[in-house]
Amino acid sequence: MCSGRVDLEFVLRAFSNGMDGVLIGGCRLNECNYITHGNYHALNMVLLCRKIMEHIGLNPERLRIEFMSSAEGNLFAEVVSEFGNKVKELGPLGESEGIDQNELKSKLAEITKLVPYIKLVKNEKLASRLENPEEYDKLFTKDEIDKLFSEVISYYIDPEKCQACMTCAKRCPVEAIISAKNQVHVIDQEKCIKCGTCVEACPARFGAVTKISGEPVPPPILEGERTIVRKSKER
Ligand code: SF4
Ligand code: SF4
Repeated sequence: MCSGRVDLEFVLRAFSNGMDGVLIGGCRLNECNYITHGNYHALNMVLLCRKIMEHIGLNPERLRIEFMSSAEGNLFAEVVSEFGNKVKELGPLGESEGIDQNELKSKLAEITKLVPYIKLVKNEKLASRLENPEEYDKLFTKDEIDKLFSEVISYYIDPEKCQACMTCAKRCPVEAIISAKNQVHVIDQEKCIKCGTCVEACPARFGAVTKISGEPVPPPILEGERTIVRKSKER
């Protein structure tokens, strides 16, 4: 219904499924029927995605956004035909860029997993409204994107500090925290979307959740060693 609904993940999924190009059509800028101006969101998402594509070695011209009204059938036909020819000229995804297909798949899968995190970190820029096309290329810089992936944030629960109060597990939006009564809690890094809610949720007197930037996460405490022995019970 709205180009603003085209999530970064949809585009990455299309490329993961072997599409050689993605064209997004949106209403003309400033002609959105809603106060949300979803087409600006779509534009910013495309600008970000194109930089991500460059980061992994893909030609960013494989992704295009065009704004047009529903009365502009001729323009739509022109754009589709022109883009179709461009994609043919660019050739098969990855192959033309000299990237091994398996490597490409794993890079795209890795980035797709980080989409919630990327959207959270770039939230402000993704919501901006660029009026001047000359600003498009400057919204996201190469250095910024390199940094985004080299300094990925992770969250870790310190087994020495966790008191198994279960607050973080109840607040985690994706059930990424392995939780049980009287058991040290553990973050399942595969499921974690890096929203940071657990840091805020963990009571300050415990301060058990740590934010780690650009470094490996310590391995999780072994399952058989997670039981917390309370001091009163020890006696
Ligand atoms: S950072 Fe968010 S998703 Fe990850 S474990 Fe904490 S609350 Fe869950
Ligand atoms: S909120 Fe903190 S203390 Fe409570 S279970 Fe989670 S990490 Fe442990």
